[in-house]
Amino acid sequence: MKKFLIFIIILNFQISKSQSLDSQIKSIEEKMITWRHDFHKYPEVSNREFRTSEIIAKHLESLGIEVKRNVGVNGVVGILNGKKKGKVVALRADMDALPIQENNDLPYASVNRGVMHACGHDSHMAILMATAEILSKNKNFDGTVKFIFQGAEEGPPPGEEGGARMMIKEGVLDNPKVDVIFGLHISSLLPMNKIYYKPKGFFASSSRFTIKVVGSQAHGGTPWPGVDPIVITAQIINSIQTIISRESELTKEPAVISFGKVEGGNRFNIIPNEVNLVGTIRSLDYEMRDYIKQRIHELAEGIAKSYGGKAIVEIVDGADITFNDPFTMDKMLPSLKKSAGSENVILSNAKTIAEDYAYYLNEIPGFLFELGGYNTKELRKAPPHHTPDFFIDDSSMILGVKTMTNLALDFLKGE
Ligand SMILES: [Zn+2]
Ligand SMILES: [Zn+2]
Repeated sequence: MKKFLIFIIILNFQISKSQSLDSQIKSIEEKMITWRHDFHKYPEVSNREFRTSEIIAKHLESLGIEVKRNVGVNGVVGILNGKKKGKVVALRADMDALPIQENNDLPYASVNRGVMHACGHDSHMAILMATAEILSKNKNFDGTVKFIFQGAEEGPPPGEEGGARMMIKEGVLDNPKVDVIFGLHISSLLPMNKIYYKPKGFFASSSRFTIKVVGSQAHGGTPWPGVDPIVITAQIINSIQTIISRESELTKEPAVISFGKVEGGNRFNIIPNEVNLVGTIRSLDYEMRDYIKQRIHELAEGIAKSYGGKAIVEIVDGADITFNDPFTMDKMLPSLKKSAGSENVILSNAKTIAEDYAYYLNEIPGFLFELGGYNTKELRKAPPHHTPDFFIDDSSMILGVKTMTNLALDFLKGE
C-alpha cells in the first residue's frame, strides 16, 4: 500500500511537471507571435539577415545562453548546458526571406518592398526562440542543446557562400560535437495541429541546369541559310520531359524536371543566334539523379547537333536529398506522438521540394519534419510557399515549440 502511495505521488509529480511545461509553453505563445510578426514585417533576404540575427542573438543572451555570432555569414549559434555533461542535441531554424512582394493585407505585412517571408522561416525562428526560452528555464537535464539559427537556406546570392554548408564548414556541428539534429518546416498547405514525417528520403535533391542552344542567325523570311535555335529548343524541351515520363522508374522514387526560363530572340522577323534555358531537377535517389543529368546532356547535345546547331549544357548540384535517419526517426516517434497526439502524427509522402538541412543529415543522424500551418476552419484558400499570398496561421506554432522541446528533452533522457 505504501509503495502504491509513493507510486501515485511520483506519478502525480510527473504529471504536474509535464503540465507545468505545457503551461509554460502556452504562456509563451503571445510573445512568440509578436516575434514572428516582427520578423515578418522586416524580412531580410539570404545572407542579409543582419537585423534578424541580432534580435535572435540578444534574445539568447538574455536567457543566459552562450552565443556565437556570424557563423556562416549571419548564423547564430546558442549553446545551453544542462546540469551535467551528456549528449548534444541540435535544433535548427532558418532565417532568410525571399525576393517577393507581399500581397497580403495584414497588420504585420512586410514593409521591406519586394522582400517577404514567403516560406515561413519567420515562424521557424519564433518557434526556436520560444523553445530556447522554455529549455533555458528547465535546465534539469543531462547534456547540451545547441540552437542553430541559419541564414541563406534559400541559397546565397550568386558569387557568395552561405547556408548550412558554410555553417558546417565553420564548425557548427563541433565544439561540442553534435550527436543528433532535429528541425521542422512549417507548411501553408498542410492542416495545423498535425505533424508529417517520413524516414529516409523526405525532401528532394535540387540541381540547376542551363542549356545554351546555339544556332546561326538568319532573316525570319528566309530561314534556310541559318540554323534556328528556337525550333531546336522546342524539340529539346519536349524530349527532356520524356526522361521523366518514359525513362524514370517513378514507382521507386518521384523525380521532376522543370524549365523555369526560356530566353531568346528580339524581333518578329529575326531568327536569333541563340536561346538560353534554365531549369531544375528534383530527385529522391542519387542514381536516378545521375541518370537524369546524363540524359539531359545526351538529348540536348544530340538534338542540337542533328539540326546543325550546338547545345552547351551545365548542371550544378544544389541541395542534397534530405535523408531522415530511420533509426532516429523510429526512436523519437513516441516523442512526436506525445507532442501532437498519435492520430496527428502522419506518415508523409516524399516531397520534391528541397531543403539545405540535407547537409546536416549528411554529417550526423537526425530528421526534419513538417508542421501543418493551415487553419482548415478558415475560408481562405491555402496559398503555396514562395507566392505573394503565402499565409500561415499563428496558432499553428505552439505545436512546434512543444515538439522541439520534447524532442530535445526526450533524446537527452535517452528515451
Ligand atoms: Zn523556401
Ligand atoms: Zn523554407
